[in-house]
Amino acid sequence: MTTESSRATTTIVISHLATGPTAPVVSSATGPNSLHTRVADVVATMGPPPWSKRIIADERQLVTLIASPPGGGNRPHWHRDFDEWWMVLGGTLEWELTGGIVFRATKDDIVWVPRGAVHHIRNVGTDLALRLAVAMPPAWHYASPCEQCGYSDDGPREWCA
Ligand SMILES: [Zn+2]
Repeated sequence: MTTESSRATTTIVISHLATGPTAPVVSSATGPNSLHTRVADVVATMGPPPWSKRIIADERQLVTLIASPPGGGNRPHWHRDFDEWWMVLGGTLEWELTGGIVFRATKDDIVWVPRGAVHHIRNVGTDLALRLAVAMPPAWHYASPCEQCGYSDDGPREWCA
């Protein structure tokens, strides 16, 4: 069966092209798109979790530093048009995915989740959990209950982040 959503496509437009070697232009010292970001500085500035801070944003990538307290996590959701990946920078995080897949990741681990798979991410450790998330704009999120633990809520069914 072909559904409307499976026929839909997403396109992006890259309107600003470099014409040759160019010195970087930085619009803001606080980001996104600072030349150099120290994670420890962001953590100190943001204060107690939960929080998220956009680090890099352009036409093809949205990179976000996300902090979760013990027991905290995301709202389970899936993406229609991009695969998402993360690098864990601290703590112990658990990913619950569509299809009965559950695993834990710790500092320096890289996690990749293909489009369509619901991902419910929770801090299952006792320390602050930090992860760097890489998504693609416009990064539409579609809420869906977690297949593993059943978590759901009454928040928006779709959102852009
Ligand atoms: Zn996601």
